[in-house]
Amino acid sequence: MGKHCKEGGHPPKAALPVRNKVVATVVAGGAFAAVGQPLAAVADPELPVHPLASSKNLSLAVTGTDTSPATVRLLGSEAATDSYAEAQKVQKSEAIEQSREADRAEAERAEAARVEAARVEAERAAAEAKRAAEERERKARGFVKPAEGTFTSGFGSRWGTSHRGIDIANKIGTTIRSVAAGKVIDAGPASGFGLWIRVQHNDGTITVYGHINTIEVSVGQQVGAGDKIATMGNRGQSTGPHLHFEVIENGIKINPLPWLNERGIEV
Ligand SMILES: [Zn+2]
Repeated sequence: MGKHCKEGGHPPKAALPVRNKVVATVVAGGAFAAVGQPLAAVADPELPVHPLASSKNLSLAVTGTDTSPATVRLLGSEAATDSYAEAQKVQKSEAIEQSREADRAEAERAEAARVEAARVEAERAAAEAKRAAEERERKARGFVKPAEGTFTSGFGSRWGTSHRGIDIANKIGTTIRSVAAGKVIDAGPASGFGLWIRVQHNDGTITVYGHINTIEVSVGQQVGAGDKIATMGNRGQSTGPHLHFEVIENGIKINPLPWLNERGIEV
């Protein structure tokens, strides 16, 4: 028993009922199996049961208003373990919920990215289809753009001389096409043009393609509208890779721009 008993007396009368109550609580809580044994045998020396010193704690423990560790031990570990386990469970389910939330957000982001990629691809496909349809239409009418690129110079006066064609700039090697069906009448070196090709069309009009890098046809060859006849270059009197394009009608060099526009070609 406690120190108080050894000192020879009896425990204070007031303390005893409280103590009995506490022990009864502990026993009821399942912490001890020695039900019915004398109090002295029941008390576990490990338990901090010091009647006098802790009588306040004990009574608090009995009334359930003290949450000190000693009280928690006194009351038996089951309830405490239960509430700890409960807290663990809550924490665990909160963590699971947070993880699910993150998964949902990730899935939403992935879905949004997929939708956006599909939209961009659909737009690209639509633009491509439109371009292809326009190209077919031009070909059906018999005319195509001589080369893709940037319109850099128009027909007329330039640098004090007369520029009697238009310039379309792009990379060396860019495809150059015959703007309409016809017959190749020149393919080779030409003064100022480096290399050129001239195509005579069915109505007698001649188109000229200058500064070209490579020649893909030969003199006398029949070509269709849109056939590749050369690649873009920087030969002759040229300050950068471009196609110099001319239109000759009845022996006169005319402005190619309105001529192309009238045939549905925008440059
Ligand atoms: Zn030019």
